[in-house]
Amino acid sequence: MLSFHQARDQILAAVQPLSIEKVALLDAAGRAVAEDVIANRALPLFDNSAMDGYAVRAEDCSPGTTLPVVGYLPAGGALDCSVAPNTAVKIMTGAPIPPGADAIVPFEETEESPDQVRLLGPVKAGDHIRFQGEDIRPGERIIAAGTVLRPGEISLLASFGMVLMPVRRRVRVAILSTGDELQELGDEPTTGGIVNSNSWALAAAVRQIGGEAQLLGIATDNRDSLREKLGAGLQADVLITSAGVSAGDRDLVREVLDELGVKQQFWKINIKPGKPTAFGLKGRTPVFSLPGNPVSALITFEEFVRPALLKMMGHRTLAKPLFKARLQEPVTKKVGRTQLMRVAVEIDGDGGLQVVSSGDQNTGIQRTMVCAQGIALLAADRERYAAGDRVDVHLLGNSTALGD
Ligand code: AMP
Ligand code: MG
Repeated sequence: MLSFHQARDQILAAVQPLSIEKVALLDAAGRAVAEDVIANRALPLFDNSAMDGYAVRAEDCSPGTTLPVVGYLPAGGALDCSVAPNTAVKIMTGAPIPPGADAIVPFEETEESPDQVRLLGPVKAGDHIRFQGEDIRPGERIIAAGTVLRPGEISLLASFGMVLMPVRRRVRVAILSTGDELQELGDEPTTGGIVNSNSWALAAAVRQIGGEAQLLGIATDNRDSLREKLGAGLQADVLITSAGVSAGDRDLVREVLDELGVKQQFWKINIKPGKPTAFGLKGRTPVFSLPGNPVSALITFEEFVRPALLKMMGHRTLAKPLFKARLQEPVTKKVGRTQLMRVAVEIDGDGGLQVVSSGDQNTGIQRTMVCAQGIALLAADRERYAAGDRVDVHLLGNSTALGD
C-alpha cells in the first residue's frame, strides 16, 4: 500500500497547471501569479524626501548654521527651484530632491522663521533621502511565479502601475456524493437516511482555495445513476466523488469510473483515517474518490486534493508547512500506519505550540473537525507517543486562529 507521502507525490506528479488568464489586479488578490513579475522601472522612480523639512547641501551645514529659504516643494509639486550654495528649500515628504541638494534636514532638527532656517545639529550627505531605485531597480524580479498575492504584493504591483496580472484560471471541480442512503438538505429526515453533507463540505473546501465547485448532487448505488453523473463530472477540470470505495462496498464507483475510461492510479493509502481513497486519471483529468465518512472525506481533501488543486492553479507552495508542537497527552496508535490526528492547537505558557486530540478520533465524530485547528501527522513506525513528545502539525484549511 502507498505511504502518505508516496500517494501525495504520485498525485502531484500527475496534475498540471491550468492555462493562464489575465485579470484585473484586485481580482488577482489571493491567487497565485502565473509568471515572474519584473520591475518595468525603478522604485522610487526619483530621489525624494523621506521627511518634511529642508533640502540643503550638506557641505554648507553645521550646528548653528542659518540659511535663507529660497523655495518650497510640496509632494507632487513642480520641480521649479534648486538649492544654490548656502541656501535651503522647504520640502515635504515625497517631493523630488531639487538640483543642488544632497540632504534633508527634518523640521524637528531646525528652528524656523519666515524666510530662514537655523540648523540645530550636524548634517551628512544623503540624510533622509529616498534614492531612486533603492527599493527596487528596473529589471529586478519583484514577485516570483507561484506566489500568492497578499495585500503587500498588491501594493507593490500597484506601485508599478500594473493593472492586469497573469494568473492560472480557477480550477472547476465537480463534486458527486454517492450512496442510496443519502438525502438532500431540505428533505424530511427518514430513518436510515443520511444527510448529504459531503458535497457542501467539499465545495466549501474548494472555494476556500479559490476554486469553483460544481455540485452534481447524489448518485444512487446503481450503474446507470453513477454512469450518468460521473460522465457529467468528467467534463470538469477535476472530479471528486465521495463514498462507495470502502472495502465493504460493491466498489461500484471505481468500476463505473473504469468503464468511463478513468485509469486508476492507486486505491488505498496507508493512513488513518482515509485509507480507501482512490485516485485516477481520464486523460489529464484527475479523479479523486474519497471515503464517504465526512471526517475522512475532509481530511483526505486537505492532504491530497488541496495540494493538487493548488498546483493546477499555479501555486508554488503546495503542501502545508509542518511545525513541531508538544503533545499535551500521550497517544497510542496502530503501528505501521500514518495517523492523521485532529488536534486542537494552543499556545503554551512559554509561547510555544502544543496540541491535544480534539476529541474522539473515531471518524464518525464530526464535532472533532470543528474543535480542531490542525492535523498532527503521527509516524507510521511509532506505536506510542508520550506527553511532551514533539510531533509534526499543520493547520487546517486556511485557518490562522488557534484554539483557546
Ligand atoms: P462509505 O464510504 O460508503 O462506506 O460511507 C461511510 C459513511 O459515510 C456512511 O455512514 C455513509 O452514510 C456516510 N456518508 C457517505 N456519503 C456521505 C455524504 N455525502 N454525506 C454525509 N455522509 C456520508
Ligand atoms: Mg456506502
